[in-house]
Amino acid sequence: MKLKRIKILISGLVIFAACSTGINLFTDNDELALGKQFDTEIRNNSKEYPVNNDPQLKDYIDKKIFKEIINSPEVKKASVYNYEMEIIKNDTTLNAFAVPGGYVYIYTGLLKYLDSEAALAGVIGHEIAHVERRHATQRITSAYGLTLLMNLALGNNPSQVAEIVANLFSGLTLLANSRANEDESDEYSIKYLSSTRFYPGSVKFFFEKLRDDGKVAQGGGGLATFLSTHPDPIARISTTDQRLKSLGMDVKTYKDDGSNFFKTDYQKNIKSRLK
Ligand SMILES: [Zn+2]
Repeated sequence: MKLKRIKILISGLVIFAACSTGINLFTDNDELALGKQFDTEIRNNSKEYPVNNDPQLKDYIDKKIFKEIINSPEVKKASVYNYEMEIIKNDTTLNAFAVPGGYVYIYTGLLKYLDSEAALAGVIGHEIAHVERRHATQRITSAYGLTLLMNLALGNNPSQVAEIVANLFSGLTLLANSRANEDESDEYSIKYLSSTRFYPGSVKFFFEKLRDDGKVAQGGGGLATFLSTHPDPIARISTTDQRLKSLGMDVKTYKDDGSNFFKTDYQKNIKSRLK
């Protein structure tokens, strides 16, 4: 990202600096601009983020799962953000991530590991919540502070601009979510999925399978990145169960089955395409 660009991004934000706590200095347009930059960086870095070349698979997940969640009335910024998904070909990474403005990336390692469309929908719902709730830009705001952002907008401190840009692109700054962010995204995943064809509590299916496979304790096997960006998977299972109970919903696990799990469809349309 060029110096000039980040200045454009941040200019116009200072107006809101009168507020002092719990604020986000970025506008929706800033979210979109920042996300576009990240998406371009990711697509230009095919070594680290090779796009999975299977249009049919992408189309299936996009239409049958991603768009269905975006169409939930609880996704308030569906017409504001540029919601798009991409599949990254990396069979050893069990993860998904989102960047501001609506871009969601799913690794083939995760697709191979899950066993139902509901489980994938739960993860996607969670990632969409990071975008909707603007977690990344909230973190940038609190990490760099109002004074610094004002300096940047006023062009007073070019070296700090360079530092921020370097940090943003060093990888995990934007992706490492806090426990509070994770918790909120799990909560919103349930909200979003409640108006879809999927079991609403499926955000925890991935964690349950990891737990049963002993992968959380090991921490390895493609999980290093996941665990550094998604803390506390075990605690999140029980929190999700409590939420489902308080909403009067059935508490099921990934081992159960039901008309809202779509295990056969997952096998047929997703897993079978990942050799
Ligand atoms: Zn997350």
